[in-house]
Amino acid sequence: MPMAHPRLAPQPPTIMTSSPAQPLYITMHPQDNVAIVANDGGLPAGTVFPCGLTLIGHVPQGHKVALTPIAQGAPVRRYNVIIGYALQDLPAGSWVNEKLLRMPAARELDHLPIGTAQREPQPPLEGYTFEGYRNPDGSVGTRNILAITQTVQCVAGVTAFAVKRIKDELLPRFPHVDDVVALEHGYGCGVAIDAPEAIIPIRTLRHLSLNPNFGGEVMVVSLGCEKLQPERLLPPGAIPIADQREAPPLDVVCLQDDTHVGFMAMVASIMRQAETHLTRLNARRREIVPASELVVGVQCGGSDAFSGVTANPAVGFCADLLVRAGGTVMFSETTEVRDGVDQLTARAATPEVAQAMIREMAWYDAYLQRGSVDRSANTTPGNKKGGLSNIVEKAMGSIVKSGSSAISGVLAPGEKLQQKGLIYAATPASDFICGTLQLAAGMNLHIFTTGRGTPYGLAACPVVKVATRSDLARRWHDLMDVNAGRIADGEVTIEDLGWEMFHLLLEVASGRKKTWAEQWKLHNALVLFNPAPIT
Ligand code: CA
Repeated sequence: MPMAHPRLAPQPPTIMTSSPAQPLYITMHPQDNVAIVANDGGLPAGTVFPCGLTLIGHVPQGHKVALTPIAQGAPVRRYNVIIGYALQDLPAGSWVNEKLLRMPAARELDHLPIGTAQREPQPPLEGYTFEGYRNPDGSVGTRNILAITQTVQCVAGVTAFAVKRIKDELLPRFPHVDDVVALEHGYGCGVAIDAPEAIIPIRTLRHLSLNPNFGGEVMVVSLGCEKLQPERLLPPGAIPIADQREAPPLDVVCLQDDTHVGFMAMVASIMRQAETHLTRLNARRREIVPASELVVGVQCGGSDAFSGVTANPAVGFCADLLVRAGGTVMFSETTEVRDGVDQLTARAATPEVAQAMIREMAWYDAYLQRGSVDRSANTTPGNKKGGLSNIVEKAMGSIVKSGSSAISGVLAPGEKLQQKGLIYAATPASDFICGTLQLAAGMNLHIFTTGRGTPYGLAACPVVKVATRSDLARRWHDLMDVNAGRIADGEVTIEDLGWEMFHLLLEVASGRKKTWAEQWKLHNALVLFNPAPIT
């Protein structure tokens, strides 16, 4: 299918305004024949832009306007990519929405450009540091949290009860521990645990318990009769320590153990074990570490047409800064990058990285096909209301979160990071599943962009939320940490905001600043990706 040439670097958007009160549209590339209306509330019929373009009907904020006449069947271009073909003649100045477009087919996964768009490495950024917690395995935490791993959903109620008592009765005695988190999930029994793809939820749970923010203190609550036995979840050697010969036995509280007579005996066991781990965690102190120890997962949710204009390009610029500082950035959400696969393989650092990306996308294509859908199942009613016509347009805006660095590694779902740099961590786009898989990969800080607005948060890791529009940032002033709408308002550049975010991340990582989600303790559930059968 016809696709545009891969872009070598994000194009700065052209913003046609001198003041925000004027009618304003934003173009992403000189070749585009549509732009999006930027003004709050949209613009009425008869509006004349400074360039002379006149709207022939109302166009809502974030929605597309035809810059030139587009004939029936002709391509509609945004980001210099064909996002659809006109289903009827579209005069200049008309509203171009999803009902007027036919979506292009997905790019085939063969004959892709491999490593052809590699950017010259940018000069390293030296001297940036934050204060973090060094872990026995060499990773660094941005928070000091006791996590209680669970083998199975059956123990969730008892563990939650115990965690409440730990927080009320024990935590006040351990002021250097930030929180206690129960790693609750729906897996562990009633599942086809020997199915080949069961490895995904199992390794996700294993690696979650090893997240850098948990300080290497692993404790497990097990029921006893479940399929996912503690030794299968965390086999010998799974917990990295300096000398495996001295590895202590796995710390497991088994609820069906004969010694537990009554519910309170189970709670007492969990609290006793927790106290041992809290004592060790409480002895730790933050120390100055290089910014290269940051492991930042980037994600978007509740996207609108501004996501790809303001927040995501600024996050992309920040991602480039993090990579230049020697850090790690993970981008994910396979259905939202699938349509830009040629841009990504072109940025692969090695042919092996490109092949791994193709392997993950082919696996996901087949996974969707098994469910009789394709990538177009991704877009939501809110995306369309926000101006995103289809997954091609959404993907072009989503992919810019990855910045412009060479892609140095690929992770399959649930795998743990083994290297630094820009990494494609293959995950579904679902906010909770993506967040869970990025935590399992080793994320110690999360950036989340949103246009429609979501109060998303994670208990295990700070989430910096970035609003794509000033209107959202104003209304959700105590939920959004960064207002990228200032880019569309002409107040800051993408580069300025990228630097602002970079500095903010170092502050948040050091614990000097809390995100709004942390302030209000807004936590979404951990949600496992389980493509294997349930029994
Ligand atoms: Ca998402």
